[in-house]
Amino acid sequence: MSDFAELRLDGVRRRFGGRDALAGLSLTIRRGEFIALLGPSGCGKSTALNCLAGLLPLSEGSIWQDDARLDTLPPERRGFGMVFQNYALFPHLSVRKNIAFGLQMRRLPRDEVRRRTDEAIRLVRLEEHARKLPGQLSGGQQQRVAIARAVVLEPSLVLMDEPLSNLDAKLRLEMRTEIRRLHQTLGLTTVYVTHDQEEALSLADRLVVLRDGHVEQIGTPQELHNRPVNRHVADFMGYRNLLPMTVTAVDGERVTVGNGAGISLSGIAVGAPAEGDAVIAGIRPEDLHVGTAGLPATVEVVEYQGRELAVEARTADGVVLHLRAVTRPEPGDTITVTAAPDRVLVFPDGTS
Ligand code: ATP
Repeated sequence: MSDFAELRLDGVRRRFGGRDALAGLSLTIRRGEFIALLGPSGCGKSTALNCLAGLLPLSEGSIWQDDARLDTLPPERRGFGMVFQNYALFPHLSVRKNIAFGLQMRRLPRDEVRRRTDEAIRLVRLEEHARKLPGQLSGGQQQRVAIARAVVLEPSLVLMDEPLSNLDAKLRLEMRTEIRRLHQTLGLTTVYVTHDQEEALSLADRLVVLRDGHVEQIGTPQELHNRPVNRHVADFMGYRNLLPMTVTAVDGERVTVGNGAGISLSGIAVGAPAEGDAVIAGIRPEDLHVGTAGLPATVEVVEYQGRELAVEARTADGVVLHLRAVTRPEPGDTITVTAAPDRVLVFPDGTS
C-alpha cells in the first residue's frame, strides 16, 4: 500500500452547465480515516466522489496526496479502489476470478495472486462461494465480492458510492458491521457516500454534510449528533421537531424562546441570538417526553417501533410535535409534553 500521511481536497469545484454541483470542497483526509459524505439527493455527494476517483475533471481546485498532485492523473494512476451500488462484477467470472482479476492485470507472480486472493476471500467470508458465479449469490454476497475486489489491491483510498442501497434492511445492517469490521482490520482510508444519516453516523470517523453543493458541516458523529451548526444539518441529524419561535430572554448561551401562543422553551443557542430574534427550536423526538407538566397536545398518530412508540401530537395552536412514548397513548388523548432544557437547540431562522 502506498505510504502517505494525508489526502487533501483543496477548493474542489465542479460545474455542470454553469451550475455548481460541488461548490468548493476543502477537506484533509488522514490516512486510515473513514469519511462519510452525507446529504440529500442532488447535494453533490457523487460528484465529489467522482472528482476524487478521476471520473470527472474538476472545474477548479486541486487534489493532493501529501505533496503529489492527483487531480491531473487519470483514474487508473490514482491507485484507488471503487465499490459501487450495482456491484459491477464480471458475470461470467467466478467469485475467485473476479477478485483475482485486478492482481492478474498487474502481472503479479502467480503465487502472490493466489495468496492475496485467498486472503481477501477469507476476509469477506466467502470461502464456501469462491467457485460460484455472481448470479448464484445473494445481493449481500455480491457486494462482498465487490468489496474484496477493491481491497485486494491494497489501494491508498477506497471509494464507496451508496454500496448498501440495493440491499434489504436486515442485510444492510449486517453489511454495515462487515464494512466497519473490515475497516478496523485493514485500516484502509475510506470515503463513503450515503444519504442515510444512521449509516454515516455508525460507520464514519468524520462526516461531511453537503447541501446544494456546499459543505454545511464537517465533524465527528458526536459533534454532528449533539451540535449541528444549523437547522438543515439538525433536520438531517434527526431533529424532527423544528419549531419557529421568538427569543424572549438570553442568558449567555441559554435562551428562552416562545411562539406567543403558549409554547415557551428553554434551550441552548447555536450562534448569538438577541431578544426578539426569529429562531428555530430543534428537538429530537427522543428528547420530548410525556410528562405531568408541560404543553398540552392531542395525540394524532401512534406508531409501534419496537421498544418505544413514535407519537405525533398537535398543540392547540396547530404545532405538530414528534415524540417517543413508552406506554401507548390513544389517538385523541390529551398528553402534556416536556423537553429537557439542555436538549433543545436554538438556531437562527433564515436560510443559513
Ligand atoms: P444522489 O444521491 O441522488 O446520487 P448526489 O448528492 O450524489 O445525489 P450528484 O449526483 O453529485 O448528487 O449531483 C449534484 C448536482 O449536479 C445535481 O443537481 C445533479 O443534477 C447535477 N449533475 C450531476 N451530474 C450531472 C451531469 N452529468 N450533468 C448535469 N448535471 C449533473
